[in-house]
Amino acid sequence: VRHHLSNIRQKEHLNAFLSVYEAEALTRAAEIDQKLQSGKAGKLAGLVVGIKDVLAYKDHPLQGASRILDGFISQYNATAVQRLLDEDAIIIGRQNCDEFAMGSSNENSAFGPVKNDLDNTRVPGGSSGGSAVAVMADLCQISLGSDTGGSVRQPAAFCGVVGLKPTYSRISRHGLIAYGSSFDCIGIFGKCVEDIALVLEVIAGADAYDSTVSQKPVPLYSSDLTADNNKSYRIAYIRELSSEGLQPEIRENILAAINRLKADGYTVEEIDFPLMEYILPTYYILATAEASSNLSRFDGVRYGYRSDKTTDLHSMYKKTRSEGFGKEVQRRILLGTFVLSARYYDAYYTKAQKVRRIIREKTKEILTKYDFIVMPITPTTAFKLGEHTDNPLEMYLADLFSVQANVVGVPAISVPCGKDRNGLPIGLQVIADDFEESKLLHFSNIIM
Ligand code: GLN
Repeated sequence: VRHHLSNIRQKEHLNAFLSVYEAEALTRAAEIDQKLQSGKAGKLAGLVVGIKDVLAYKDHPLQGASRILDGFISQYNATAVQRLLDEDAIIIGRQNCDEFAMGSSNENSAFGPVKNDLDNTRVPGGSSGGSAVAVMADLCQISLGSDTGGSVRQPAAFCGVVGLKPTYSRISRHGLIAYGSSFDCIGIFGKCVEDIALVLEVIAGADAYDSTVSQKPVPLYSSDLTADNNKSYRIAYIRELSSEGLQPEIRENILAAINRLKADGYTVEEIDFPLMEYILPTYYILATAEASSNLSRFDGVRYGYRSDKTTDLHSMYKKTRSEGFGKEVQRRILLGTFVLSARYYDAYYTKAQKVRRIIREKTKEILTKYDFIVMPITPTTAFKLGEHTDNPLEMYLADLFSVQANVVGVPAISVPCGKDRNGLPIGLQVIADDFEESKLLHFSNIIM
């Protein structure tokens, strides 16, 4: 804990943490030390974890990096957080992110942008940028983030760490601030696959507080990692790898990884995914629709911030929401409200739901023939701060490779796969079928 606290102090300029629970973490470490000596410590004894500011930690501030939750204190623990604590992990602090997890660069936080540790003029990715950088810069061992459309895998790639988005419903969403409820997943950042496997087996599984969570038993992911590798995995990669807009070094690195797999004796085949162009619009229609509905609860009545310039009930709603939400969040609420409005509902929302179903079926078809789909996770390596902030559409387009796993609901991981000419990390994405995390982690461990 002392090691990480000192790193946090030295790397304050990264703006990765919004709160650091210094005294508390030290006390807890001492208590866990006692437990270790008496042989009664939990599975994660002493593991130092940071949590994205979208996860509830009882009696600690929680605000989704938004002004609208100024002063809000969690009254309970998110299930994932509770399970970490039960196994004696130590929560070291609350991590900066894009406001309400909306963004791809961590420049939308009400607390200012997070910086990439390799080059402070570049973004760490988003929305869980603080969580990714914290693992990258050794400010903690593990971070919990959230992945609605890539927010764990994309920043993991930009920061050269491993980021897992499990199957939708594998981890309870209780205590996770809702963005797009049918997409939201808690995800895990680590330096290696082993750590992620161990944390996943602790936090996954049935939970009485989340009716959508899967009742499937949780495998022992960490012991499955050492299973025999008989090279029988079948791997598909998409032809779109040759598409424009993909940074050449990313294409080269991923093709080299594919060639290594072939040389190692795996079956690796190129496939077509003709629906590629529909994935992004489907995601942004449905995610903004769900967001506009989820964020309606922040009205100045129940939580956090309330404008002091109000004259009546309506002006309170309006002023509180106009002052409390940042620009990008307001843009999403407007988009979502539009696609859900009476005149446009069928043209956008209903249509997107249908397209989502088709994308799911087509992806599942591939995943019955192959164990994995490999593809890039980002079209470029970490870009400069401010490079895309004037053009939100450009920012959305950069999510091209990350949203498919969320639209479909399947698990996906980003593992480091070389560097570009500036020394910036490149991520390789591997997608597996529903609830195949064991296989996914096993394979990731081999290729890392
Ligand atoms: N960049 C995507 C968005 O802004 C994904 C965000 C996320 O996964 N939370 O919606």
